[in-house]
Amino acid sequence: MLTLTMAKEWINALAKIYDENQTMLTELDAAIGDADHGINMARGFNAAKTDLDTHPQSDLPGLFRTVAMALIKNVGGASGPLYGSFFMKGGPSLPADNADLAAVLKAFEAGVGGIQKMGKAEAGEKTMLDAWLPALKEMAAAVGDGAGFADGLARTAATAEAGAEATVEMLATKGRASYLGQRSVGHKDPGAASTALMIRSLADLAKE
Ligand code: ADP
Ligand code: MG
Repeated sequence: MLTLTMAKEWINALAKIYDENQTMLTELDAAIGDADHGINMARGFNAAKTDLDTHPQSDLPGLFRTVAMALIKNVGGASGPLYGSFFMKGGPSLPADNADLAAVLKAFEAGVGGIQKMGKAEAGEKTMLDAWLPALKEMAAAVGDGAGFADGLARTAATAEAGAEATVEMLATKGRASYLGQRSVGHKDPGAASTALMIRSLADLAKE
């Protein structure tokens, strides 16, 4: 179950994970973008953590909304509004507390729908969606198989990581990396890498 407590721990963990991976993500973005993705993610999730510390939320939709607003307000790059839209669109369908795997899948599907509506990207364009879309497919398969919460999220995280890895060979046709044309090939997409970290972090919390 995704409890309200676990969701807050997830955001705390993401603030730390994006701090620790700031250099790695920024180096990925230096190769095919403008070298700010690590900075953007660390700034955004530290702001979300602080906002939740100062304005504790009493239900999952409220928590997701607070995170969305923090990301939109504090992140300059494209990833701020895109991840902001994920949390904004993902939150409303969640129960107040104790979301099972199917409920989290529904929220993630709505959230990724928000990313697609805003960014107009599809699979194979070398963006964060190349981590999200295969991950959602695997998560839906896990729900169909009757997988447990931790097991379902572990499968989802592994698929997101494979999806991020697969962006190395892709030609970027959306976002800043698309300006490079063929020179974008051979580098992992930073947003796909940050998405894989986001899902892995939740899977790790679910294991505990
Ligand atoms: P910016 O590109 O404005 O510098 P960031 O560096 O923080 O913003 O984020 C870049 C990441 O955003 C890319 O690696 C990619 O995954 C994601 N991205 C960019 N444009 C889109 C889009 N249209 N749809 C989905 N994801 C996108
Ligand atoms: Mg950038």
